[in-house]
Amino acid sequence: MFVVTRDEEKCEGCGECVEACPAGILELVDGKVRITDETACLGCETCVTVCPTGAITIQEV
Ligand code: SF4
Ligand code: SF4
Repeated sequence: MFVVTRDEEKCEGCGECVEACPAGILELVDGKVRITDETACLGCETCVTVCPTGAITIQEV
């Protein structure tokens, strides 16, 4: 499975990752990204690619 880590300091709330995630597990809450269901992460790293600030990292465990 994959662990999705977000750096709230770096997140600018642009929503790019929310739109791009094929699993639909990212959302914005109060202008910051939040992971709704980490167990459903596909590990595709699309969120990492689209994030302009490098706020998300994916780790396979
Ligand atoms: S790695 Fe893919 S499935 Fe997982 S949170 Fe990022 S975009 Fe969504
Ligand atoms: S793409 Fe990056 S900066 Fe934009 S909402 Fe997602 S984590 Fe935050």
